[in-house]
Amino acid sequence: MPLDTERGYHAEWDMPAPRLGRPCADAARGVYLCPMAGRLRAVGTVELGGIHAPPTPRRIARLVAGARAWFPDLGPPDRTWMGLRPSIPDSLPVIGPSARGAGVIHAFGHGHLGVTLAPLTAAIVAALVAGRAPPADIASLSPQRF
Ligand SMILES: Cc1cc2nc3c(=O)[nH]c(=O)nc-3n(C[C@H](O)[C@H](O)[C@H](O)COP(=O)(O)OP(=O)(O)OC[C@H]3O[C@@H](n4cnc5c(N)ncnc54)[C@H](O)[C@@H]3O)c2cc1C
Repeated sequence: MPLDTERGYHAEWDMPAPRLGRPCADAARGVYLCPMAGRLRAVGTVELGGIHAPPTPRRIARLVAGARAWFPDLGPPDRTWMGLRPSIPDSLPVIGPSARGAGVIHAFGHGHLGVTLAPLTAAIVAALVAGRAPPADIASLSPQRF
């Protein structure tokens, strides 16, 4: 499978009440600001660097600068991390039975939307396991498309 990874970065500041009431995107700076419980999170960037390279500090610095454009008094972040978004070149996940046998059902490669799509993917996999028609057309997601 042509699985690659889109590396993304996070920086978080602890605070009793995040200063935003909803997630906001600063499209020009490529930074997303998200209110979380007890903290403000800045997130973004796509880095094609594989799964073994260490995090790139200047990407964190860019997120921090983007957050400070909105909230200039932010100090150093309380934590930062890099995550691997498992991505397929056509930006679609791989969902369906393995070519080596229907006893193995693939469900991976959700790219940027793994959290969002998890319930639907779970419903699709449950239907496949039970031998029912899946709740969505999964032809374009087939593991055999490569
Ligand atoms: C910066 C960032 C922002 C995000 N924003 C959102 C968002 O806005 N909305 C949302 O719904 N989700 C978001 N996510 C979550 C992300 O989309 C999911 O983590 C991802 O889609 C999980 O997909 P999956 O369940 O198919 O995982 P799987 O395909 O099952 O893979 C998960 C595992 O694969 C590993 N992996 C990644 N690439 C490779 C590779 N090339 N080779 C081998 N292993 C690999 C990972 O380390 C992980 O352990 C974000 C993640 C990050 C890092």
